[in-house]
Amino acid sequence: MTDAKGVGFCTECAAHIESWEGLTACPRCGTTNVPCANENQVTVTVNWHELHLLCVWAENYQRAQGLGSTIYAIAKRLHAQHPERDPLTLAGELGEMAKKYEMDVSDPALRHDIAAQTGEEVGLVRRPIAPDVDGTL
Ligand SMILES: [Zn+2]
Repeated sequence: MTDAKGVGFCTECAAHIESWEGLTACPRCGTTNVPCANENQVTVTVNWHELHLLCVWAENYQRAQGLGSTIYAIAKRLHAQHPERDPLTLAGELGEMAKKYEMDVSDPALRHDIAAQTGEEVGLVRRPIAPDVDGTL
């Protein structure tokens, strides 16, 4: 975040934090997760592929452990710095593929993650209509 305002920002929703004084939760989203202090803002040099690997591994751990969507929030802020690049998460990549090829996704958790990462809903795969025993639909 280059437009530093206040003392920091919410790791989840990027809301600006005006003061640490009396702060117990994010004033916008209500998370009690530790916010990011502006004084810790740094610039690093990294290869996009390296960053992609870090994000996908973190995303997989987050999904496996049911740890919310912090990695998606961070990956969205990182990707916003280079929107011409490919998404940094698997959910972002799958969301782009689903959109490009008009694919649907049957896993509700994955549909949720794709929406969290891309901001767009993907369709639900509907089961094909199974014919009755006599072959009629
Ligand atoms: Zn927040």
